[in-house]
Amino acid sequence: MTDDTPVFWSAPYQKEIFAKIVEVNATELRFDQVLFYPGGGGQPHDLGNMIYQEYTLPIIEVYTVKGEIWHKIDTKETTDFQVDEDVKLELNWNRRYNLMKSHTAQHLLSYYIREMFECETIKANFDEGKIEIETSKELNLNDVIRVLEESNYRLEENVDVISIIVNQETFQEEYKRKIRDKTSDEKKVRMIQLGDFDLVCCGGIHVKKLAEVGGIFLETVKNRIIKLYTSRKGINYTNRQRANLHALEEITEKKDSKLIELVKNKLKENKNLEEGNILLLKLLFQKIHTWSEKINGYSVVLLDIPTLDRITVQAALKEVKEEMFIAIIGRNAVLYIVSTNEHIKANGIIDKIKEKTGAKGGGNKGFAQMSVKDIEEPLHLVREVLSSL
Ligand SMILES: [Zn+2]
Repeated sequence: MTDDTPVFWSAPYQKEIFAKIVEVNATELRFDQVLFYPGGGGQPHDLGNMIYQEYTLPIIEVYTVKGEIWHKIDTKETTDFQVDEDVKLELNWNRRYNLMKSHTAQHLLSYYIREMFECETIKANFDEGKIEIETSKELNLNDVIRVLEESNYRLEENVDVISIIVNQETFQEEYKRKIRDKTSDEKKVRMIQLGDFDLVCCGGIHVKKLAEVGGIFLETVKNRIIKLYTSRKGINYTNRQRANLHALEEITEKKDSKLIELVKNKLKENKNLEEGNILLLKLLFQKIHTWSEKINGYSVVLLDIPTLDRITVQAALKEVKEEMFIAIIGRNAVLYIVSTNEHIKANGIIDKIKEKTGAKGGGNKGFAQMSVKDIEEPLHLVREVLSSL
C-alpha cells in the first residue's frame, strides 16, 4: 500500500528501527516511521526506549492526535531534542508480543461467541497474557468452556492471520458485506482475516499464525464479563488452580479435627492466591458449625488463624448459613467478628471489648473488627463478654 503504512501494520514483528525526529513538542516527539502502536480497540499502546545520542530514554506513552502518532519521552536525562536527528527505537518486545497474542485470541473467541451463541462482543480489554471480553448477553460457564474448546482446537490447526489494507471504495465493493462486527468509514480500511472464516475491521496488532497464541485459558465468567489468560500465563494459572484444587481435595478427605491445621498451612502457601484462599475458607465455613461450642446458649466458634485478612474473611462469610457467632484473630492481630445470630450483634460485642480494653474498632451487626495488638487473650475476652450477655 502507500508509504505511510505504520511499521506496526506492515511489519508487526519488527522490534527496533532507525528513525528521524520530524517534530518536537517539549517532551513529545514524532518520528518519520511508526514502530510503536498508539493503542486502540482495547489494546494498550506499546512501551520501549528511544536511543538518542548517548542516552537510552524510555517511551512512556504513545497516542494519536489528528491522525499523527506522538511519543512521550521520559526526559530525566535530557530534553534537548532536535528535528532531523537520528534515533533508534526499541520496543519492549516481550510485552508487545504477548499483547499481539491476546488480541488475536480475542478475534477467534469473538468469532465463536457469535457463531455458537449469537452473542456479540461489546468490548475487549487486554493486558500481557490477559483478555477481558464483555458480551452482549450472559453466557454460562459451560457455554464459555465450549467456546474455548472450539477456539483451542482452531489454534492447533495453525490458521493464518491475514492483514488486508484497502481504500474505502474497494472496501465498499468487495468486503463490507463479509465483515463481522463494525464496519469502517476510514479512507484506508484495515481488516484482519482468520483463515477463510472470519473478517473484521481492526487497526490493532496481531500474530501471523493462530498457533502462536499458545492456548487460551479461562479465569472467570461473571455478569457478561469473561476473563481469560493466554500462553504461558494461562498455563501457569491453570496449574496453580489445579494445585489449589488438590489442596481442597486433600482437606475434604480428612476429619474435621485436622481441617483447621490444614487450612492454616494451606493459607500460608497460598498467600498470593486470594481466590484460592477464599475457596479454602468457604470450605472451612461450610463445616464450621460442626466445631461450634455453646456459650450462654449461643453457637460460637473461636479461631486463631493469623494468615487471614479481612477480604478473605468477608468473602468466605457469605457461605455461612447456620445461625452462628464466629470470632477470628487474623493477620496483624485484628479480631474479626461475624454474627449471623439475630441476638448477638458483632459491633455490640466489639463495643463491650472496647470498654474493657480501650482498643479501637467497629462495624455493623453482621461484621465488626478491632485491633488486639496489645491485648492478652482476646478470644478469652470474647468468651467472657458472651457469657455475660
Ligand atoms: Zn484486531
